[in-house]
Amino acid sequence: MTATMRAVYFLEPGKLEMREVPIPEPDAGEVVIKVESATTCGTDLKAYRRGHKLFKPPMPFGHEYAGYISAVGQGVTKFKVGDAVMGTNSAPCNQCYYCKRGRQQLCVELDGRFNFGTYAEYVRIPSYITAQNLHHKPAHLPFTEASFIEPLSCAVLCASYTDVQLGDTIAIIGVGAQGLMQIQLMKAMGASRVIAIGRAQGRLERAKQVGADDTFSSLDGDPLEYVRSQTERRGADVVIEAAGTPETWSQAMLMTRKGGTVIQFSGLAGGTQVSFDATHLHYDEITMKGVFHTTPHKVELAAQMLSDGTVDVKPMLDGEVPLSKVEDSLLRMQRSEVIKLAVVPSMPDN
Ligand SMILES: [Zn+2]
Ligand SMILES: [Zn+2]
Repeated sequence: MTATMRAVYFLEPGKLEMREVPIPEPDAGEVVIKVESATTCGTDLKAYRRGHKLFKPPMPFGHEYAGYISAVGQGVTKFKVGDAVMGTNSAPCNQCYYCKRGRQQLCVELDGRFNFGTYAEYVRIPSYITAQNLHHKPAHLPFTEASFIEPLSCAVLCASYTDVQLGDTIAIIGVGAQGLMQIQLMKAMGASRVIAIGRAQGRLERAKQVGADDTFSSLDGDPLEYVRSQTERRGADVVIEAAGTPETWSQAMLMTRKGGTVIQFSGLAGGTQVSFDATHLHYDEITMKGVFHTTPHKVELAAQMLSDGTVDVKPMLDGEVPLSKVEDSLLRMQRSEVIKLAVVPSMPDN
């Protein structure tokens, strides 16, 4: 009889199911991980609410993880059973047009190279991820923080697009997990002043806690006007949109000073149209960049930053829950009660 495990499946938007399935076994180059922490993610919530182009249900659910290697496939030399690890959920092919041009996040093979199923007792990690994006977890780093490696690596790629200069003023719209990580990265890159824009005071307090110099609630007025009032009417040198609405995309653009850079970080639903002031874009020489996902180099940097404390993810973690609480956790995220939760499969249900 094959040993089985519990795993959460995504059946369709609004519907998850706990299944009893065989514990996976590794093929050549693969490992199987006993999951110690699988953090909930805004992308999971998006998929659960309205579907997502990268999610093809019915499918195992969850993509952030850290845990112990429980089995290794033939040819794996970097890891052995018992190693504590953390990793991401995809890896590029390194052969296609985009990979060769150094834009591995745009790899044409990427859609077929996403791995899901971390809301489970065990997860199998494909060979290409094991080889490129799985890292040893330092002993001092808790599993619940180590499983931030994937979202942090996306934040690191975003930060690398900003061209922040010493002394810059940065506006960050959105104080979810990504916004809170961006604040820390911008300070680490030499920004003098980071203005965090959000709504709820509790979130803005956390922004301060992780290093924001200034916060503004859009419930108290117009963030655009606020940023202008703080920058001699110029606007911010760099603006990062991490709130994910068409309105904030437009607002981020207007908030950027002449010659400045705006990064559209948050993905919007397929087909969404956003309007911009073409005059501002053209005559004020705004650089607007989209940024998506991550690369193995940024994953490596994220591993290092979690380890050395450049980025502290504790303020984004609102607790630990058992496997049976995945759906409940997503609903709590939707109500903005929590930013992220760590799903810990060894925790007893209650
Ligand atoms: Zn994620
Ligand atoms: Zn590729």
